[in-house]
Amino acid sequence: MIPEKGEGIESVMLELSKLHELDTDYTRVFSSMCTRPHPVAVRAHLLYMESNLGDPGLFPASVEIERRLIGMLGSLAGGEEVRGYITTGGTESNIQAIRAALHMARMQGATPTNVVVPESAHFSFEKVASMLGIELRRAKLDEQMRVDVGSMESLIDEGTAAIVGIAGTTEFGQIDPIEQLSQLALEWGVHLHVDAAFGGFVIPFLHTSMRWNFECKGISSMCIDPHKMGMSTIPCGSLLFRQETLLDGLGVDTPYLTSKRQYSLTGTRTGATAAGAYAVMRHLGRRGYARVVGECMRLTRMLAEEARDMGIEPAIEPLMNVLTLRVPEPREVERALMRRGWYTSITRQPECLRLVIMPHATERAVLQLADDLKDVLVALGVSQSL
Ligand SMILES: *Cc1c(COP(=O)(O)O)cnc(C)c1O
Repeated sequence: MIPEKGEGIESVMLELSKLHELDTDYTRVFSSMCTRPHPVAVRAHLLYMESNLGDPGLFPASVEIERRLIGMLGSLAGGEEVRGYITTGGTESNIQAIRAALHMARMQGATPTNVVVPESAHFSFEKVASMLGIELRRAKLDEQMRVDVGSMESLIDEGTAAIVGIAGTTEFGQIDPIEQLSQLALEWGVHLHVDAAFGGFVIPFLHTSMRWNFECKGISSMCIDPHKMGMSTIPCGSLLFRQETLLDGLGVDTPYLTSKRQYSLTGTRTGATAAGAYAVMRHLGRRGYARVVGECMRLTRMLAEEARDMGIEPAIEPLMNVLTLRVPEPREVERALMRRGWYTSITRQPECLRLVIMPHATERAVLQLADDLKDVLVALGVSQSL
């Protein structure tokens, strides 16, 4: 209830500080794809606290930051000339990418009715389907949890507005065969959207020759989230298009604002997170991110080794900083780890214990987690020989 008479600032802040203690410190969090923002992102965010990119004429600095940031993200994604905007995250980016694809298909005289996604697609595509009134077709995965290209092709028809590939799946950290999906998109003349919400700040810094970005000519759009592995402040995602015309399809007239057209899903939107992402990308550079990703991968492999020593195999050999373990009774293991203060999660199909090793993870925490996992497995009687 809003108080009749206002309270002093200190008393309000005291209440909030006490409440804040309920929030989880990231140290023992292995379930989230977000992390502590880099300090430079926090500083930049605070500096641009008041800015509203929904009314860009008033905030030309934020407009310029967004333009430069899209350019940097484009270069990370192998497309120097991309067009796009800073979103609130992967969900908004996915909604808007498919909206743009539908718009384009209609402009070309088609009647789009469906989108084909991998079974491993993020749950945001459920929102996409329900909001845009289209059918979501789910292509099967192979035993490595990558989308099966044959299955995807068998689901495409004249009503298909777009197909989706995932560069860094949420559950298994797998990378779909983007190059083959790109071929498929070119053959069928459909929009290919690549969801790199998580992988966009990981894959460029792995030692991999896998092709995943705009260098594949069939890709029309991509999303990359600075608020995940980009170490920026929340909420910060991005939507990148190969062609300006796709972005144009999202535009509406904005009669009483300082700009004439608006492309974002939200109206009023902060410039602070764009400043945050810009700052951390400038500060870390490719080498900085390569270090961060390198350390996350080192700890991921260390944890995988520890698990193997307990006789537990990963569901797939980790390509990214996501480790999925074939433990017996994963739900019980997750609950037991929770009682010991560890936040982990479970994959759906197959059910595995899922650990995301984010930049806040330390070697100490990883080794403690491994010790506790061993104890938990022994206590559950699934691993006596330890
Ligand atoms: C996290 C994630 C999303 C959703 O992003 P939000 O920022 O939570 O909206 C979409 N796709 C993938 C692959 C993700 O990992």
